[in-house]
This record gives sequence, structure tokens and C-alpha cells, in this order.
Amino acid sequence: MSLDKKQFASDNYAPVAPEAWEALKRANSGHAGAYGVDRWTDRAVDMLKQVFEIDCSVYFVFNGTAANALALASMCQPFNSIICHELAHIQTDECGAPEMFTGGAKLLTIGGDQGKLSTSELEAAASSRKSDVHWSRPAALSVTQGTEMGTLYSVEELAAIVDIARRNGLGIHMDGARFANAVGALDVAPREISSKIGIDVLSLGGTKLGNPMGDVLLFFNPVLAKNFQYRRKQAGQLASKMRFLSAPWIGMLEDGAWLRHARHANTMAQLLAAEISGIVGVEILMPVQVNAVFARMPKTVINQMHDLGWVFYTFIGDDGVRLMCSWDTLESDIEEFSSSLRACMDAVL
Ligand SMILES: *Cc1c(COP(=O)(O)O)cnc(C)c1O
Repeated sequence: MSLDKKQFASDNYAPVAPEAWEALKRANSGHAGAYGVDRWTDRAVDMLKQVFEIDCSVYFVFNGTAANALALASMCQPFNSIICHELAHIQTDECGAPEMFTGGAKLLTIGGDQGKLSTSELEAAASSRKSDVHWSRPAALSVTQGTEMGTLYSVEELAAIVDIARRNGLGIHMDGARFANAVGALDVAPREISSKIGIDVLSLGGTKLGNPMGDVLLFFNPVLAKNFQYRRKQAGQLASKMRFLSAPWIGMLEDGAWLRHARHANTMAQLLAAEISGIVGVEILMPVQVNAVFARMPKTVINQMHDLGWVFYTFIGDDGVRLMCSWDTLESDIEEFSSSLRACMDAVL
């Protein structure tokens, strides 16, 4: 599917950001060691440690599903369970990868408004039936920041969740497919919403941010990183030409491009929400805190917009759509989309 205009379907519809592309080109010279024994991988690892201000273990993998599933596998036995939000990507969009890579751990989903874990439900799920041999004993919590609903946990909210998990002996995984958007929006140091509050393992997303491919796992808890290299290899996630997974991170991190792009996508979402919320018949459904806008509009209008060539997904019921902005979204794309939407809406009202 090649598309003739900018889309709001997902941030992974966007091309590669120029900084990542340039870094990739620079890495494309001469021979280098395979499987991560190369200077680009060393440099990317060093830069990630610098950005996170901690000496953590860093593992590049091909995508976010693998990052999540393998991180969770490092925390769980096959008889364990993983607590997550009912809308978590690991529950809704990973085809059972966490269950498979843990060798059978069960996802225990809980609710919570706006895509965020309810602390009372978390407390209940983490503490009930603890010594019941018939139950899948919880061993991990997975929390997504920014969430699947385009919202954010504040530092305090995260700390409260981590506290409950810790008290109940759970390992804590963060799905940070849009971690950069969260850092940009909260205007905090990356460590403030990860290592410092007690996250054990972070799946740090690069693809939606503007890398060609490849997400990365940061193990802040060294015990969980033990033997991880074997787990990654067995899962088919050890890239032989590793420099082409790692080098884009150099380009994205070296002058703060990652946060510049993330903040831009966030700003575009704010603008999009402001534009379309002024259209009669459109209702914004979630607070717009990172780079997604969730909006309700009549089904006939959704269909008309699709007929006009706009690609976006329906996420909530059959009339709640998700509009994602990316590093390359322009104000003019938003104007074009909004005027299409206004015209479609005018026609049905
Ligand atoms: C996109 C995404 C992922 C990773 O998906 P892949 O397609 O496997 O790269 C993980 N978590 C969330 C919340 C996502 O949006």
C-alpha cells in the first residue's frame, strides 16, 4: 500500500527520520564485526546509558513485540502471570507472544480509566490468591507509558503503581513504544520515569519515533539481564548485521533528535485535536497527552473519509477513531485532514 498523502493511521506509517537515515548511511562503510561487536553498537549503547544516566544492560531487538515478550520472559516462570491493562499492546496486539516466550505465563488484565491501570484493581490482582496452587501466581507487571489511549501517567502515578507492584514482589516492565513522547510531554529526564522509580526493564521504542526498525531493551535490574543474550538469540532476535539496528539510535540521540521528533508529534496531536474539536459532531474522547487523538464521529463520516483516501483506525466501538501524529506530520496535513472532515460532516448534518 503506497499512500499519496500523509496519514494518521499510525506513527509507524512515517518514513525514517533524517538523523536516523544519515547515521545508517555513515555506518554503511567497510566491514565491521557481526552480532553487535562493532563500534556503532558500542557507541549507541554508551549513548543510551548516558541519556538514562545509568549503567544498564542494553539489548537491541527487531521490534516491540519481541522486546516486550522477551523482557517479560526474563521475569516469569511458565506458571506465573503478568498483570497488565486490558488495552495493553501485549494483550491486544501481540498474538500471544508474551504467553509463548514465557512458556505459558497468563496475562491477567485489569481495568482503569483512559488506558491507565487502576491502582485498586492492581492491588487486588497482585495480592489475591497468593499462595493458591491452583492460580497463576503474578510475577510481573507491565505498564505502558505513554499509554495505548494516548494518555500519560504522571511521575507520581507511576510511583504509586510501582509501589504496589514492589510490595507484592512483582517484576516491573515498562512498554515504552512511545516512551520518548512521554519524556517530551512530561519534560522530565528519562530516568525520572524509568530507573529512578523502580522500573526493572524498559522496552524503548525507536520505530514509531523515526528509526527504520529496531527497538531496544534496557535492563536496569542486572539480575534479570542474566542470560538474556541467550534468550534473545534463541528467539531469533540477535541481528547479525547489528550495526544497522544500532546506528540509527546514534543519529537520534546525538543531538536530542529523538525528543525533538517526539515533541513535534505531540504538538501536532494538540493542534489536530484543537482543529477537529471545533467541528460540530466530532467529540474528543481522551485527554491528548502524547501523539494520539481519539475522537468520535459518525460512522458514515468515517466511511466517507476512508473513501477520500484517509487512512486511520477505529479503536473504540465503531465510531471512535484513533488519529496518530508522527515526526513528519505538518500543520498543512492537519489542515487538509480537518477540512476534509469538516466537509464530510457538513454533508451529513
Ligand atoms: C507499536 C507498539 C508496540 C510494538 O509493536 P511492534 O509492531 O512489535 O514493533 C508495543 N507496544 C505498544 C504500546 C505499541 O504501540
